[in-house]
Amino acid sequence: MMLTLEEALERMMTKMNPLEMEEISINEADGRIISSALKAGISLPVWDNSAMDGYALQAADVKSSSMSNPIKLKCLGEIPAGSTPKIRVTSGTCIRIFTGSPMPDGADAVVMQEDTAQDDEHPESIHVLDPVRPFENVRFRGEDIKEGTLICEPGIRLSPFQVALAAATGTHRCQVHRRPKVGILATGTELCEPGTTLTDGGIYESNRVLIQSLVKRAGCDPIVYPIVEDSLEATCSSLSKAADECDAIVTSGGVSVGDYDFIKPAIESLGGTIDFWRIRIKPGKPLVFGNVQSKPLFGLPGNPVSATVTFTLLVHPALVKLGGEKAFSHTYTQGLLAEKLENPGDRRLYLRMHHDAGGRLTKSGANQASHALGSLAASSGLVAVPESSELEAGSEVPLLLWPTMP
Ligand code: AMP
Ligand code: MG
Repeated sequence: MMLTLEEALERMMTKMNPLEMEEISINEADGRIISSALKAGISLPVWDNSAMDGYALQAADVKSSSMSNPIKLKCLGEIPAGSTPKIRVTSGTCIRIFTGSPMPDGADAVVMQEDTAQDDEHPESIHVLDPVRPFENVRFRGEDIKEGTLICEPGIRLSPFQVALAAATGTHRCQVHRRPKVGILATGTELCEPGTTLTDGGIYESNRVLIQSLVKRAGCDPIVYPIVEDSLEATCSSLSKAADECDAIVTSGGVSVGDYDFIKPAIESLGGTIDFWRIRIKPGKPLVFGNVQSKPLFGLPGNPVSATVTFTLLVHPALVKLGGEKAFSHTYTQGLLAEKLENPGDRRLYLRMHHDAGGRLTKSGANQASHALGSLAASSGLVAVPESSELEAGSEVPLLLWPTMP
C-alpha cells in the first residue's frame, strides 16, 4: 500500500500525543510551548504614573501660561523612581516627578521639564511656560494590560515579548510542555565517523549531524547514538536503548527491501508496530512510521536528500505536535519559475530550488538525485511538481522554505 503524502501525514498526526507539562522559571520560557493559559497577574501600569520628567500639577492652574505669561508654582518636593508620593498637590503648587514615578494625589497632569524654567530668586518655585490639558503626560493604571488578560494560550510558542509581559505582570514560573528528546540513529556498515580514515568501501556518516539540526528546528532536543552496523542484532539493541531513553526515534537508512535493511525486521522483533512504510513522493518513498516500546519511530531513507525531504514534510510537523504546539503549517513564499519543471513519474516530485533576490526560482543543481547533497546545500527550499505534469517557465509557484530555528 502506497499512501499519498496527505494520508501519511494524517495517520502520523493522529498518533502524536503532546508530552506532559512541567513547571519552569520564566527565565527559561522563551520559545517554550505553554501548556496552561498564561494570564497577567496584575494590571499594567500598576498605578497612575508620569510619562515625562517634569512637574505634577493641576492643569487648571496653568491654563493661561505661555512664554510671555509664565505661571509660578511652588514646588513641594520630588518623587524619584521607586518611591511613593507622601504629599498632596494643591492649587498653586507642584511636585517634581520623573518618568514612571507614581502620580501624587491632587495632581491631574504633568508639565514636561522643557516647558518650565527655574525661578532664580525663589529656588523652591518654577515657572510654567506652556499649558497642559488635564491628564496630559499621565499613564493610567491598567491602560496597557488589565489583570487577568490572556498573555498566551495553551499550545502556543512563547515569544520574548510575551515572556517580558509575563515577568512584568508578576509571573516568575510557568507551565510548559516538556521538550521532546529525540534519539537519532544512523544505520549502515559502510558508515565511518567523520575524523577517522575512510575504510575500503566506506563513506563519511553525515545524516546524524543533518538530522540533529533538523530536530532542533522542530523544537526538540536531539540525542545522538553511535553508528549502527547492518545486522538485526545491532539494530534491535540500538532501537531498544533509544526507545528507553527518548520520547521519539529518528533513524536513517535500512528501510528499503535490501538484504541489509534491518529497520522493519527490528521493529517487528522488538514487538513494535509498523503503521506504513511507503509514500507516493519522490524522493522519499520508503519512509517508515511505526513505534517501538510505544515510542513513535520515524525511519528515514538513508540518502541524505530523501531523509531531508521526508523529515521536513512529515517528521517535522509530527515532532512539533509531540512538543505540544497546537497548530503547524510550513512556511511558503511565491516565486517565478525561471525554467520549466517536468514530472513524468507517478509520484509527486519535490525539486530543490534556489530563490534569487529577484524572486526567480531555478533548480539549485542539475543533479536532483536523492543522494545529491550539492544541490541540497545550494537550495532555498522545495517546489512540488504533481505526478505526470509540467510547470511552465514563467509561472508563479509556492516554494516551501526550509524550517528555521523556532
Ligand atoms: P540505505 O537507505 O541504507 O539503503 O542507504 C541509501 C544510501 O544512502 C546509501 O548509498 C548509503 O550509503 C547512504 N547513506 C545511508 N546512511 C547514510 C548516512 N548516515 N550518512 C551518509 N550517507 C548515508
Ligand atoms: Mg543502508
